[in-house]
Amino acid sequence: MLNQENIDVLSSAKTMPVNANKQNDSAKFNIVLVSLYNTESYSVRTLHAALAKAGFNVTTLFFKERGPNNTYNKCSPREIEFLAEQIIHFDPAMVGISVMSAFFELASEITKKIKMQSPALVLWGGIHPTIRPDQCLSVADAVCLGEGEKAIVELAEKASRGYKIDDIKNLWVKTEQGILKNDLNSLIPNLDSIPFPDYSVNNKYIIEDSGITPCDYDQVMSKFGMNFMTSRGCPFSCTYCVNGILRKIYKNKGSYVRQRSVDNVINELDYLKKNFNLAHIRFEDDVFACNFNFDWIDEFCEKYKKMINLPFSCYFHPKTTDERMVKLLKDAGLTHVSFGIQSGSEKIRHSYFKRFDTNQEIIKTANIIAQSGISYSCDILMENPLEKNEDRRETLSLLLQLPKPFFVNTHTLTHFPEYELTNCLLANKLISEDDVEDVRKESFEHNRWNPYLDASRDPTNMLWSCLYHLASKKSFLSDKKIVQLSHSRILRRFPVFLLLLLKYWPALSSLKSWTGIKSFLYRVIKKCSQKIKC
Ligand code: SF4
Repeated sequence: MLNQENIDVLSSAKTMPVNANKQNDSAKFNIVLVSLYNTESYSVRTLHAALAKAGFNVTTLFFKERGPNNTYNKCSPREIEFLAEQIIHFDPAMVGISVMSAFFELASEITKKIKMQSPALVLWGGIHPTIRPDQCLSVADAVCLGEGEKAIVELAEKASRGYKIDDIKNLWVKTEQGILKNDLNSLIPNLDSIPFPDYSVNNKYIIEDSGITPCDYDQVMSKFGMNFMTSRGCPFSCTYCVNGILRKIYKNKGSYVRQRSVDNVINELDYLKKNFNLAHIRFEDDVFACNFNFDWIDEFCEKYKKMINLPFSCYFHPKTTDERMVKLLKDAGLTHVSFGIQSGSEKIRHSYFKRFDTNQEIIKTANIIAQSGISYSCDILMENPLEKNEDRRETLSLLLQLPKPFFVNTHTLTHFPEYELTNCLLANKLISEDDVEDVRKESFEHNRWNPYLDASRDPTNMLWSCLYHLASKKSFLSDKKIVQLSHSRILRRFPVFLLLLLKYWPALSSLKSWTGIKSFLYRVIKKCSQKIKC
């Protein structure tokens, strides 16, 4: 609930300052932004830049770094206390917290601590407030739905002048009279109008283990790489992905997929190259160059090669991968591509995921990439309650048809709130409300994005994940043998044998007695594959 000062502002019908003593100078209106477990945060750094450009005194606190393989290590009550103390130290009039579903509880604890010590207005933004604004308003004073650049600046400008803040598009605000729900603004049509994210060390700190240190972007990049966006939105609407729900929320609010101009992209990259230790760029666009605009691709490749000339990686989609495009991007420096498969079962993909690519398109995409001399990885969703072993066998069969070697990222299917797939699984009682991410917080428990072999999986998923990895590498096992392993009763009960073998494969194969070990392992594997159940 808003404090008395905020309520005065909201309940006033005036459009002039309600209190002559209020801060009316944006430079005196301190704002603290909080990014949880994301020191790169393209979005929070962009908000920082937008607020600083508008003249506000803004500080960003990056609370805790992610662990290896994108894991979130739980924080102690003392760390939360320390974060709140640091926020208060900057004497903010407004605190903005970026909240993902897994962080709902954490953001709630932080907000409660702030509100015990400060009259600051606490605004939540990000994907969770966008999809569950009512729930978030049980804790925060206001939430920002969708794109926040315009809304947060307008909020800061109005609040700093003591004007009403109840009519700002994208904002829902809690008042004593109830929740004020403003419409969504149209999507920002021209992405070039958005300031570049603020990468400088100025007013940015990392808080880790109850210590605070300046946030140096070179150090961030050395740990997490350089993430970069040339666009917003995705042309697809997969049911397990945020785009599926955002596209619905933004219906009739302008073009969902938008692309920055090449010059705007190159200018930002040029700035980064000149100011930071840049070695490789990871384009984080949902699907790179997804609008198939060859004028854009030609211009990008030409200017990127001339001005930036660094290796880069990006995401493709089998529906939009084109031989000519891949050749141009390879020539410009593309070294690695990731794309989603998620399941080798077309039934699962088409009926439940609303991914309408065919297995033939996936095979064609992998061949185009591999034949261009580019390495690639593909994503598979594990722990999918809709999949049966016959579906998993289709995935294995598909992977065996792709050119080797490649990387398989076996992610855990996470049930984000309100997503179409989550609602479908809930309706069919295949999951419960406790499995939904704001309650389950699986991101804290599990190596959700773990691309490596994961011993914490259940036996079924552990076995299939091992087999998928086996299918992606050149090994002494034939494809037929790998398929036979999927029928092994021994491995179904003890998949950890296969997991350990794959984990220690590089070490084993470097041993002098490798030939003897290999023939022993081969005999064991043969035995396993003979124990066929079905
Ligand atoms: S293609 Fe990828 S980014 Fe686009 S909606 Fe599907 S999962 Fe999301």
